[in-house]
Amino acid sequence: MHYFGCHLSPSAGYLAMGHTARSIGADTFQFFTRNPRGGKAKPLDEADAAALCAFLREQGFGKIVAHAPYTINACAAVERTKEFALQTMEDDLCRMEHLPGNYYNFHPGSHVGQGMEAGITAIAETLNAVIRPQQKTVVLLETMAGKGTEVGGKFEELREIIDRVKHPELVGVCLDTCHVYDAGYDIVHDLDGVLTEFDRVIGLRRLCAIHVNDSRNPFSSHKDRHEKIGQGSLGAEAFRRIVCHEALSSLPMILETPNELAGYAEEIAFLRTISVP
Ligand code: FE
Ligand code: FE
Ligand code: ZN
Repeated sequence: MHYFGCHLSPSAGYLAMGHTARSIGADTFQFFTRNPRGGKAKPLDEADAAALCAFLREQGFGKIVAHAPYTINACAAVERTKEFALQTMEDDLCRMEHLPGNYYNFHPGSHVGQGMEAGITAIAETLNAVIRPQQKTVVLLETMAGKGTEVGGKFEELREIIDRVKHPELVGVCLDTCHVYDAGYDIVHDLDGVLTEFDRVIGLRRLCAIHVNDSRNPFSSHKDRHEKIGQGSLGAEAFRRIVCHEALSSLPMILETPNELAGYAEEIAFLRTISVP
């Protein structure tokens, strides 16, 4: 069973995202929990959230992914900035309880010169402050391109964070194909090797979702610029292997390519085509 979808705007509400997803052939999707630049979230409409849950069940959708604003930094050097990340994540996770059984993905953060070790410690502390043992949402650490002082460009860094959380059963990983390729994991020429390495360092059972993006930059460039599928340095053939790989094929696969809805519909159709062996 394959689940394909893309990033959608939450501006018209939760159920509306379900309908939009359906209209472009998606059976999963991702959305920002609030303004991606980190503003205030709209008050949660409980009836709308319940309506989306019912819709996803009826339509046979896979798990969906909420994405934290990418500007929060759980390991910021400035205490107020770090506190803001914690409060945002805490509030988002409360809201996610109205969409139970899904994922909340975030970028681990940037240590901004404090050092990788301090960054990892701060991120684990933030997770320990916001994760409640009874919550129905699994929090995902996204694999990063290793741009600047970003934490999460190496599998070892994610493993270190998971090792320090009190509830590792509520933490997983989202693998972004553009990011890992930019970070120096060659999923184009050695997908099996990279996944073996992921399994050795983190454990494939922790892999929960895939961000399906081509990259505008060459291998190991540490840049993080997404490209449309087949138009970047990964190329269409790499995605054929990715979507068909037995370790990945049942995970929600979310496009974050530079596209409008029509472009996403085409890419989802393409991914479905290449997912049939
Ligand atoms: Fe992301
Ligand atoms: Fe991503
Ligand atoms: Zn990215």
